[in-house]
Amino acid sequence: MTSNTNWGQLYIVATPIGNLADMAPRALDVLSRVDLIAAEDTRHSIKLLEHFQISTTMTAYHDFSDNNSTEKLIDKLKSGLNIALISDAGTPLISDPGYRLVQRARQEGLSVTPIPGACALIAALSASGLATDRFHFEGFLPAKTVARSKILSDLSKVTATLVFYEAPHRILSSLQDMATVFGGERQVVVARELSKTFETFLSGSLDEVITTVSCDSNQQRGEIVVMVSGAVFDATEIDPDAQKLLLLLIQSLPLKQAASIVSEYSGIKKNKLYDWGLSQKD
Ligand code: SAM
Repeated sequence: MTSNTNWGQLYIVATPIGNLADMAPRALDVLSRVDLIAAEDTRHSIKLLEHFQISTTMTAYHDFSDNNSTEKLIDKLKSGLNIALISDAGTPLISDPGYRLVQRARQEGLSVTPIPGACALIAALSASGLATDRFHFEGFLPAKTVARSKILSDLSKVTATLVFYEAPHRILSSLQDMATVFGGERQVVVARELSKTFETFLSGSLDEVITTVSCDSNQQRGEIVVMVSGAVFDATEIDPDAQKLLLLLIQSLPLKQAASIVSEYSGIKKNKLYDWGLSQKD
């Protein structure tokens, strides 16, 4: 579907997560030029707009508002108005409102343009020292231990770095549940108050960081991103593909040689494959 040239554009504009100097020039330009700013909380965003002397009209927009408010914005876009969506801080839609509006805009063939900027999870991850090649962003965990532990159990074998947003009054109980499910040895980084005066990174094993957080109530304040290193791939486990290949090879090769080939193919330890092969011969 191609966008009608008379239709307006929807801009998804990132705003700072604490330090106003992080506001991107392009974001300022778009917010000054659009016809309307749809904001998660207009009372919150008015401070940002006043700081940058932007006088564009604002309207409140939240995904939980009735369908009507989404459709009203879609109609306005189709009537030619350019609209910018902002949230209280950071990138809209990332644990923030906007999904329904963007989904509807795309369904209608409207043009949607991101204006990139701050995002707490990316800022935290980039300075965490944990692996960044693969990560799983979970957003906020449930508030209650039973539901939270269920989700953590589902994530316990994920080898990518795990990233969570957490509320300060739940940080300790969340870390404790993580230690119970992942084991207290798993590495964790807690990034707090990014880009603000009291920016802090705590890192160590879950057990160590729990001790620090429980002894210092300041660590239970402010805005927090929790990152947990992924599960370590267990090279001693023999996956079904490797088992199949080894069984095939030992039909025509000595076990030692077959184990060596499969080890090279799968990364599983040769001895482990050899022992497993022996058990299959019995
Ligand atoms: N859309 C935002 C973004 O792009 O990061 C996230 C919005 S979400 C409602 C708010 C959560 O993001 C906070 O509870 C905290 O977990 C995290 N967060 C936001 N600002 C932060 C900051 N300055 N330092 C650490 N975490 C922050």
